[in-house]
Amino acid sequence: MMLIKEILALPADSREIRVYGWVRTKREMKNLVFVEVNDGSCIDSIQCTFERRETGEEDRSGKQPRGENSSAGADVFVPPENLSTGASVEIWGRLVPSPARGQAVEVAARGLRVIGEAPPETYPLQKKRHSPEFLREIAHLRARTNTSGAVARVRSRLAFAIHEFFQSRGFQYIHTPIITANDAEGAGAMFQVTTLDLEALARSGAPPDYSRDFFGKKTFLTVSGQLEAETYAAALSRVYTFGPTFRAEKSNTTRHLAEFWMIEPEAAFFHLEDNMALAEDFLKTLFSTALRDNAADLAFFDSHIEQGIIDNLQSLSVSRFAYMTYTEAMEELRKNADRFEFKPYWGCDLQSEHERFLTETVIRGPLIVTDYPKEIKAFYMKMNDDGKTVRAMDVLVPRLGEIIGGSEREENPEGLEQRIIGLGMSPADYSWYLDLRRYGTVPHSGFGLGFERLIQYVTGMANIRDVIPYPRAVGQAEF
Ligand code: ATP
Ligand code: MN
Repeated sequence: MMLIKEILALPADSREIRVYGWVRTKREMKNLVFVEVNDGSCIDSIQCTFERRETGEEDRSGKQPRGENSSAGADVFVPPENLSTGASVEIWGRLVPSPARGQAVEVAARGLRVIGEAPPETYPLQKKRHSPEFLREIAHLRARTNTSGAVARVRSRLAFAIHEFFQSRGFQYIHTPIITANDAEGAGAMFQVTTLDLEALARSGAPPDYSRDFFGKKTFLTVSGQLEAETYAAALSRVYTFGPTFRAEKSNTTRHLAEFWMIEPEAAFFHLEDNMALAEDFLKTLFSTALRDNAADLAFFDSHIEQGIIDNLQSLSVSRFAYMTYTEAMEELRKNADRFEFKPYWGCDLQSEHERFLTETVIRGPLIVTDYPKEIKAFYMKMNDDGKTVRAMDVLVPRLGEIIGGSEREENPEGLEQRIIGLGMSPADYSWYLDLRRYGTVPHSGFGLGFERLIQYVTGMANIRDVIPYPRAVGQAEF
């Protein structure tokens, strides 16, 4: 059994072929019936053409009969009643050159079997444009649309490319825990994990006793695997994680999910500059991979979703990323303060509007902003000599703003402990993390890339909820 992708790559040599998939469209002409079949192996459907001849009618096409039984006057092809959009089918015939534009081959079909029907009265995916909102409500069927299918193929290819990228550079894939007791990483609000009987607790009015909870303490879903990844970088030198991450983001934006996939490389003996070079190389490699291996999917996004996306990715995959410190970025922003709803000042966190202005208007391309004020970044980032800024780096891209966040980590045990205390956290809770600095400490750096932000960027999809099969966001956990 061959996939449609494989069949479409074959020469039109009249070989016998069988096609399996779902009907996208059926067009009935006077003498011909065209059935487009798609199996999701690629964006293209294969056209299967049935000749329908009334008994006694001459074959005026002058062409070879399309099937062995279809000489004039023989069978009349009548499309079955249940051959409709969405039905699953098996179609057999010969692979012949296609007269239609945009396809080299088609099936001169001889027979067809409807495997599973999809009654048009109820099947929600008819041949017309459906809004992303509507498709989210039927997320169990939306993979059958061109857009969701193309997104799924880009996701799959880039997930594999991420492993290829790191594996070919000596990074080992490590699996960090999903349930964690670290609650003060500061990356975002956390989901609590508990087996305590909340209803009984509410009735009793007593405060929860976490010593009686499943793990004997308060636990959460992880917001990042970084701290654990650091422990392995301090042993294997170069590691990366690629796993699910959870943040109870209440904000209802087009670039935040409550459950997303994050890639976090961490490398010993890497300084911030090495980290920046790695991030740039990483993104460019992924862009080139998508351009090369998802060309047809990207052509679809270019013509239907975001015009110019191919040109854009092509130029990004060869151009140099721009660099700027936070302080320099702030000067740019303050010169243009009247443009912003949130007035920028040194020390403020960069808002989405600021990030987009920098990357879209000032640089017109990817930009790495470094050396942020320590107050707006996590406790583990390495302090600069000025005592005010840390060795942080955010990669900003047009349309999205932040796509990567990373830093060089504080490797000095006293410095790190001071930061923990200064933030009102307890060094005892981080004793294992401090041990990395107490024993054989090394400079090291890493970053986090949100996989869905990458997919959004590469496909041009406007809403992050449309680049993951089943989005989880505030008020949304269907399927
Ligand atoms: P933002 O400011 O955009 O909320 P962040 O500063 O909270 O991001 P980090 O903690 O640095 O992000 O996480 C690393 C990366 O993970 C981000 O650069 C982004 O690509 C991705 N990311 C963060 N939060 C989310 C989310 N809620 N949904 C999807 N991706 C996310
Ligand atoms: Mn966030």
